[in-house]
This record gives sequence, structure tokens and C-alpha cells, in this order.
Amino acid sequence: MKFYSTQDYSHKSDLKSAVLKGLAPGNGLFMPEAIPTLGADFWNRLDSMTLGEIGYETLRPYFCPDIEEQDFKLLCEDAFNFPIPLVKVSDKISSLELFHGPTLAFKDIGARFLARVMARFTTKGDKPINVLVATSGDTGSAVANGFLGVEGVNVVVLYPKGLVSHVQEMQFTTLGQNITAIEIDGTFDDCQRLVKTAFMDEDLCKQLILTSANSINLARFLPQMVYYFYAVAQIPAQQRKNAVICVPSGNFGNLTAGLIAQKMGLPIKRFVAATNVNDIVPQFLVSGEYKPAPSISTVANAMDVGDPSNFIRVRELFDHNIDDMRRDLKTEVITDATIHTTIKSVFENQKYILDPHGAVAYRALEHQLVGEELGVFLATAHPAKFPDVVEAEIKQSVEQPARLKEFMKGTKAVDNLSTEYDKFKTFLQKTEKFS
Ligand SMILES: *Cc1c(COP(=O)(O)O)cnc(C)c1O
Repeated sequence: MKFYSTQDYSHKSDLKSAVLKGLAPGNGLFMPEAIPTLGADFWNRLDSMTLGEIGYETLRPYFCPDIEEQDFKLLCEDAFNFPIPLVKVSDKISSLELFHGPTLAFKDIGARFLARVMARFTTKGDKPINVLVATSGDTGSAVANGFLGVEGVNVVVLYPKGLVSHVQEMQFTTLGQNITAIEIDGTFDDCQRLVKTAFMDEDLCKQLILTSANSINLARFLPQMVYYFYAVAQIPAQQRKNAVICVPSGNFGNLTAGLIAQKMGLPIKRFVAATNVNDIVPQFLVSGEYKPAPSISTVANAMDVGDPSNFIRVRELFDHNIDDMRRDLKTEVITDATIHTTIKSVFENQKYILDPHGAVAYRALEHQLVGEELGVFLATAHPAKFPDVVEAEIKQSVEQPARLKEFMKGTKAVDNLSTEYDKFKTFLQKTEKFS
């Protein structure tokens, strides 16, 4: 499979260079040149397949034979190694719990897969590969933990000072080894800009091998397809055509993966994209104009994105036809006040504990369901990652899973930088292990 650039249709990269470059030529994003559909044979066996097997069969067209088939099978089994249960919350709504991985967030899935793909592309004795990640919370911890101890690869996490939760911060600032954390005196968008500027800095790219692990990297968002198939496998076959899946969206990588799964044949009725008040995409569907804006901070902070980097992929999948997009994709904007009341009422009525991001998706789904439809929302983070917000609503403490307690015992080690690009560049050039 070759991958083209959303900014240059004539450009074609192979898997290795697309994964290591992250960003495509002309500041575009890589997209697969073809999206194959899955045959009847796959659908007949789906119910009895493990997550690892689904991963292998659905991702193989994109990753093999660049990665050898048998090796890729092992890679999938190793990457998709934790449960993703579909849990009933009410008669009509179920939660796809994506938060049972190492950092209790859905980004573990993409990050674990990406780390294992990149490790296949490094050779002993070469210059190290340096993965730059801007995070508004969960990406940093998932990527850092996914890559921890992987030889030949360093991870540099940039995060906005004071804008991620304490629990999130401890998960990527206490690891040491090949992981470096930098707090930036600015917003998530500033962090993302620093990373993007570094990737486009030809001078720096001559000295250091830089790559991305944000959801702009195709080996991070593509594996997220897997749980859409796995969710459908857990719904009785005759009900699948009534399923509506709601995706709490920030950079829209998760939704992109769902739409690709749909093109491969995922038999659902439709997707709903739910956002917090950072409503760039919902506004786009209304006005037809894409207007990025500075991000606004909310309690669902992993979705505080003012210029969603993967939305161009969504537009590409709709062939830039806004009427089709309006017909097939519904959006919903949820305020902080509604997030709070949703966490409270779902706990009181259903005894289910939502995290703020899951709450956005739950409420949006509830608004959108009609008639016989069955709703599935993606629960993207464990509620224990946001104890302040959640406990205030449910009036009791959320039990911390053991994995999280371990992180809290670690020692935080960070560097601090301003939003000035030159300072960041010098930092990268002067740190010995990066070159
Ligand atoms: C990153 C994140 C999202 C948003 O996912 P996108 O792929 O960026 O749209 C939602 N919820 C949580 C908990 C996240 O960490």
C-alpha cells in the first residue's frame, strides 16, 4: 500500500517513510491510496475473533507486506492485549470502554501499535528516532508509556503548563529512560505549533531524525479502527444496522478511524461526532467555512482543540463534499455545565461513572438517538483520571486502579520552556541523546 499527501495527490510514500515522516509533503497528512472492503468471510468469523485477530485482518492491507505477515500478526496480538468491553448503561445506550490499557485512556491503543511499528523500522547503531508529541493530556502519557524502553527511539512530550491534570502529568513526567517531558508556558495549540515548526525546519531535520506520534501519524490513528469492528461484534447481528456510534472528538483522529472502518464495511447506521465548546467542526457543518480558533479550556481537556489536525482527513473521506458530510455525519456541542449534570444524572439513574469526555459523548448520543436506534458511545478515559470533576458530581470517591497508583508514587522530572521556537530548537540540538 502507498500513502498519498492530502496536499499533493501526486505524492506517494511507502509505509516506512510515511510512518517516520509523520507529516506528508506540503504540510499535508498521509492517507491510504485505497480502502479495501472486507469480504463475507471476515464478517462470518467476526463474532469469534479476538481483538488481536481483528487487528491483524483489518490492518493487514495497510501494513503488509512492508511488515512481514507473521511478524505483523504477533505485533497485533502484543499491541491489542487488553479488554475492550461493551457495557450496557441503559436500555438503548452502551459504553465501549476503551480505558483498560496501561494509562487508562483509549490513546494506549494507537500508541502501543505505533511504538511496535516504529521499532520494526529502527536498526541498531543508527541515529536515534526522536518522537515529538504535543499533548493536551492523554496523548503524552499513552505515547510515553507505549514507547518506554523501546531501543533506538526517544520520546519528547510537550504539554501546556498547568493545563493538564495532576494524574495525567504524573504519567509522562515520572518515567525517565528514553522519555523527556517539557512543560511549555502556553496552550496546547502552542505546543502543537512548536512540534509542527520543528518538523518543517529543514536545518534541524538534517541534524536529527524527528517524527510524530500525534494522531497525524497514520500508524496511530489506523489501529483505532479495530475497536469499531470489535464493538459491532458485540452487538447481535440483526441490530447492527440500527447502531449509532458517538465519538467524543478533539483532533478527530478517532472519528477518522471510524469512517475508514465504515468504508471497509462496518455495518452501522451512522456516526455522531461530539465536541466540547471547541466547536470548529460543528460550525463548519453549519456555515461551510472552516475557521480555526484559539482553544478554549474545558473539563474535557483532552478535546480542547481549536484547529483539529485530522479534520482534513475527514473531509478527504467525504471527497470534500459538504452535503454528503451533512447527511452522514451528525455533530453535537456539549458545554461544561452539561458535562457536570450528565456525570451526576447518569450516576444517580444508571449507577455508571462517566469521565468528562465520555459524558460529552453520552449526552450527545442521547440527544441524537431516534426510534429503534441503539447507541454506543466511546468511553475514552477512566473516570479516576479526572477525580476532581467526577467526585464533585457523584459525591463519593472514584477508586483508583492499581496502575494509576503506581504512577502517583513516581518523581516528576521536567524541563520548562517558553513558546519561542528557537529555544525549543536549541534544546533539541543540545541534548546529547537525541543525535
Ligand atoms: C484524545 C482524546 C479524545 C479526542 O480524540 P481525537 O482522536 O483527538 O478526536 C477524547 N477523549 C480523550 C480522553 C482523549 O484523550
